Amino acid sequence: MRVGMGYDVHRLVEGRPLILGGVAIPFEKGLMGHSDADVLLHAVCDALLGAAGLGDIGMHFPDSDPRYKDISSITLLAKVMGRVREAGYRIANLDAVVTAQAPRLSPFREAMVDSIGRALGLEAHRINIKFTTTEKLGAMGKGEGMGALCVALLENPP
Ligand code: MG
Repeated sequence: MRVGMGYDVHRLVEGRPLILGGVAIPFEKGLMGHSDADVLLHAVCDALLGAAGLGDIGMHFPDSDPRYKDISSITLLAKVMGRVREAGYRIANLDAVVTAQAPRLSPFREAMVDSIGRALGLEAHRINIKFTTTEKLGAMGKGEGMGALCVALLENPP
């Protein structure tokens, strides 16, 4: 068994769609980044790569590479899973937390679990997603950005 953690933060700006966990969420702002800036999926990717000892998302998909401009992070997550499988692992479980002052994200939890499960070929009971605010403290509390943390546990299939 191997454990890995992932952490990411992206800035919120006007004129971008908000995509979290592969789900489009109605909101006045979206996350800024080279890809679709899906902060939750980036944390999941880094947790998986970390657990497999495969570095980080920036090593696999450099933001200097035009191929990854505005790419769906679901595509990146599926590629990461391919590399994790090649390395001989399967996922025992994922546990993630998203920090966002607004909007309320819990109505989208099930859709996020579904989309992550589809990208990873993983049952829903192995995926846990939590949401929190920072009680209006700091940059994220002012709505300047969103963050996400994820822990992944990998096991070797028998
Ligand atoms: Mg990122």
